[in-house]
Amino acid sequence: MFKEVALNYLNEKRDELIKVSKEIWANPELGHKEHFASKRIAEILESEGFDVELGYVNIPTAIKATYGSGSPAIGLLGEYDALPGLSQKVSTTEEPIIQGAPGHGCGHNLLGVCKLAAAIAIKEGIKQGDLKGTIVFYGCPAEEQLTGKPFMARGGAFRDIDMAISWHPASYNIASYASKTALNSAKFHFKGKTAHAALDPQNGRSALSAVELMNVGANYLREHVTDDVRIHYVITDGGGAPNVVPDKATVFYFVRALTREAVVDTYNRLVKIAEGAAMMTETQLEVELLGGCYNYLVNKVLVDLSHKVMTETKRPEWTEEELEFAKELNSKTDNYQKTIKAGYAKDGEHLATDVLPIDEKPRYASNDTGDVSHIVPTCMFMTATQNIGAPGHSWQVVACAGHSIGQKGMMYGAECIVGIVDEIFKDPTILKKAKEEFAEKINGKEYICPIPDDVPLPY
Ligand SMILES: [Zn+2]
Repeated sequence: MFKEVALNYLNEKRDELIKVSKEIWANPELGHKEHFASKRIAEILESEGFDVELGYVNIPTAIKATYGSGSPAIGLLGEYDALPGLSQKVSTTEEPIIQGAPGHGCGHNLLGVCKLAAAIAIKEGIKQGDLKGTIVFYGCPAEEQLTGKPFMARGGAFRDIDMAISWHPASYNIASYASKTALNSAKFHFKGKTAHAALDPQNGRSALSAVELMNVGANYLREHVTDDVRIHYVITDGGGAPNVVPDKATVFYFVRALTREAVVDTYNRLVKIAEGAAMMTETQLEVELLGGCYNYLVNKVLVDLSHKVMTETKRPEWTEEELEFAKELNSKTDNYQKTIKAGYAKDGEHLATDVLPIDEKPRYASNDTGDVSHIVPTCMFMTATQNIGAPGHSWQVVACAGHSIGQKGMMYGAECIVGIVDEIFKDPTILKKAKEEFAEKINGKEYICPIPDDVPLPY
């Protein structure tokens, strides 16, 4: 009865929800600036009878919206931020709407509305159905900066739920045991002394030299870290002209690894390298730790459940027009053939219909859902919302996120969330087992927010 009511409601609201996903797609906003999206979603949740806090834990575009009472309390993690420079029309050729403007290159317009759709459907199920519990929609800003959920967690979020569910747009239908990396992001600012580079170089102390020596040290560090560590940097300020000794220079680093401990260890060693570079060049160092996130802690009980529900839920049927659209996009990327070779799709398949088997290969990207997964048992699954070969964070993703391909995948995702929640509501042993697995993996370790208390929100 619960599931039937919830799915019927989802169907009733389908057009309205798709419209909201299109509106957010058409108004792409960067992290912590998602004022349109957060307001629009909060308004709907309020009209659906949720108890809504927009500006939750003092973050202007964060939302907490609650419906129901008692346990189980299930959190749904919504996101709605876009990526810079990815403005794109719903088209099979690369064509920005506004050159240089943001676009939904990770499909977060679908991500936020999928959780909204599931939340209002589950609410209706609780209201009219025969099962009880609490549903909490979290609107999580700035996922692309990997700081939204850690900032929310720093403010106390995610402690009053039993578990969390996330869903992400993708090229396939898959639930996975794959872990993701933890991360620290920091800027290293060096300050030296300027001088004429030819007339009196002896009086200069180059901040750029410090940056370069730091990078040399970091590149030697790579040999002495565990295999899972990834270190990337860009020089964001390296001076203005070759004939002026730069008195200011900045290098921006990401450190990733499959455990938080390895990130912290590598990061601390990187700071020592920066200090060494400052000493060598007689410059001053200022370290600006911007934030960080945890690795994604897999909960196999919840992954297995997600996989089961995904296979049991009717998947979208693609129209000729949708298949043509995807085929055309796939013809424009060599990623398509790579994907086929990797066994993620059959040759000639342009939009996924099957549910792939659960895989275990770690993914070295990071996702700030990792922080939530260290606070409560969390599951994440993905459904096909784009052509099979769409590269991550690309104009092709933007095109599909504004097309019926993305919208159908999003609604299938929402139906799966309803199915997962139905199973959790019906059978308390699932959550019990998920909590046991979580406790075993956490092994008494307390969640420590990777963002120190004195780091302000980046806006
Ligand atoms: Zn994303």
